[in-house]
Amino acid sequence: IISKRLKTIAEKVLPNSKLADIGSDHALLPTYLAQKDRIKHAVAGEVNQGPYEAAKKQVEGANLQSVIQVRLGNGLEVIKQNEIDTIVIAGMGGGLITNILDQPFDYTCVSRLILQPNMAEDKVRQWCLDHHWKLAEEEILEEDGKIYEIIVADRSGNADEENEHLFSEEDILSECQTKVTTKLKIMMGPYLLSNASSIFVKKWNREIDKREKVIQQLSQSHLDEAAKKKKEFITEVNQLKEVIKCLQ
Ligand code: SAM
Repeated sequence: IISKRLKTIAEKVLPNSKLADIGSDHALLPTYLAQKDRIKHAVAGEVNQGPYEAAKKQVEGANLQSVIQVRLGNGLEVIKQNEIDTIVIAGMGGGLITNILDQPFDYTCVSRLILQPNMAEDKVRQWCLDHHWKLAEEEILEEDGKIYEIIVADRSGNADEENEHLFSEEDILSECQTKVTTKLKIMMGPYLLSNASSIFVKKWNREIDKREKVIQQLSQSHLDEAAKKKKEFITEVNQLKEVIKCLQ
């Protein structure tokens, strides 16, 4: 049995995909997909020996060696040219995910990226925009008290145009006329923002609380830098509050 988080990620993998799961840990995702016959084949990449061994054990235990190849290596370096069309990188910070995506790699054969950052989702969205990947889908879910976001980016000839439209500044709800800046959309996710589920509202109420704590801490400092940071945080919190009030 796999987690709701991994199952939701699995749903984003198109049928018959050739998958690379980077940072696969126990190779639960490719194993699940192979058992359901939903992938052609997969590469499960791991940089650490322990998880690499765990992944091998998992794949051998399920007798799936002919479908899933477990490889030890850093990020995308485990993928051979033209071998895969879908990359999953899940369960890491957004900074680590974008570092991996920034490795020298030929993306020609890749048509879909499925990214699940545990934090710094804005970095992942920004990377997609900067590298001309169309933000195709976003999902938010809660499991065991934690809230996760899944970001799907597709290769598209019109990626820049479509992203520009998606991230443009516009009123999100005509009732309250709240302007949402591009920066806020990159932070919150344009699709998540327009769906505004109760989990999304919960997440951003938590984030507002976190920022308010930081503002309090910054208030105790007399440094100019702290005052500047505090001002930025206050502006951000006010914007977030306005958006969330509008969505509730
Ligand atoms: N992807 C799985 C999931 O979502 O459940 C496992 C997430 S686990 C928290 C992160 C895994 O990524 C660890 O097993 C770690 O060894 C691996 N990892 C971290 N940096 C990596 C890198 N540069 N290349 C490959 N694997 C990496």
